[in-house]
Amino acid sequence: MHENHAGKRIEVGILGATGMVGQQFMRFLAGHPWFEVTWVGASDRSAGRKYREAANWRLPEDAPCTVADLTVQGCKPGNAPQLIFSAMDSSVATEIELEFAKAGHFVVSNSKNYRMEPDVPLLVPEINPGHLQLLARQKNERGWSGQIVTNPNCSTVVLSMALAPLKVFGIASVVVTTMQAISGAGYPGVASMDITNNVIPFIGEEEEKMERETQKILGELENGEIQRLAAGISAHCNRVPVVNGHTITVSVRFASKPAESDVMSVLESFSGIPQARQLPSAPPRPILYLPECDRPQPRRDAERDRGMAVSIGRLRSCPVMDYKFVVLGHNTIRGAAGAAVLNAELIYSEGLLD
Ligand code: NAP
Repeated sequence: MHENHAGKRIEVGILGATGMVGQQFMRFLAGHPWFEVTWVGASDRSAGRKYREAANWRLPEDAPCTVADLTVQGCKPGNAPQLIFSAMDSSVATEIELEFAKAGHFVVSNSKNYRMEPDVPLLVPEINPGHLQLLARQKNERGWSGQIVTNPNCSTVVLSMALAPLKVFGIASVVVTTMQAISGAGYPGVASMDITNNVIPFIGEEEEKMERETQKILGELENGEIQRLAAGISAHCNRVPVVNGHTITVSVRFASKPAESDVMSVLESFSGIPQARQLPSAPPRPILYLPECDRPQPRRDAERDRGMAVSIGRLRSCPVMDYKFVVLGHNTIRGAAGAAVLNAELIYSEGLLD
């Protein structure tokens, strides 16, 4: 199922391949059983150079040798593969992703630009695989021969994974405070003079993204429209001196308060289509509950299951809301490159690629 008729892996391209998320794509896709990176695109500053020279490589090991000698292309469709991952700077993603979708490419994007469009799935495969039905609207109403699917903002996906199993209890309101890693700001990101020994209580547009994207992800598809989750969500977002891993403290109120053992049970047993189909990037258990009183911690827990599992701890009663807990996820993997790869695996397993 994972090889094309010639017995080869499926060729994929990456827009924004030289950036922080682009580099995580390279690392995450190295040795992938279904997908092979054969095309990389970036700005005119990088086009024409070898990937190893154009990318300011910031990850622990060297760039995979299978991609290091690829020549970086300008971000134009033409000779790019059908399946395109996008880690484009959001200032240029609207036009470039549109151009690729119109030219027949399946664009699986990290960028914010199309996430809230009513006909674009904001996909988390464990939570809302049915939202892929929106793709029919892109073809019928926009006339694109290709498609765009997005993954959420890096803190939103972590919060959504924690809230999805709790929907059975009727989520009424949610208050969250984030402690977000520096790598979430790309490279060079936040100046060291600003973040060392410091906390910055502002990340542009982040609180609004968390509030509205979570409602869309957890919404229900009815007659071709997403009915957003009707819960109030209030986010406080902070940048902290951590390299990788967004930590979020969450307080939730329900329609009627469930037993703590029932909350624990739905968190621990949460699973979805990626696990049932054993998609290559699916963690065996998307949520890991850590019983220790001082977990999860970014340095110890962000990389669990190749950065694809989210870790939850400290579930307890809340004297103001009903329950509170801590959730942690890897922002450039489950929050970006890994999320997009899992989306593409779901798309392929649904038979949606040519
Ligand atoms: P980044 O490190 O700044 O990388 C941006 C990429 O876009 C680079 O490859 C850059 O190429 C390319 N680019 C910039 N201007 C371009 C242009 N005019 N034409 C073509 N390519 C251009 O950013 P990042 O952190 O990887 O984020 C990439 C996207 O993912 C953003 O939309 C971001 O919001 C989103 N995202 C990031 C995270 C995270 O945790 N970092 C999480 C979720 C989503 P050059 O190297 O040639 O300049």
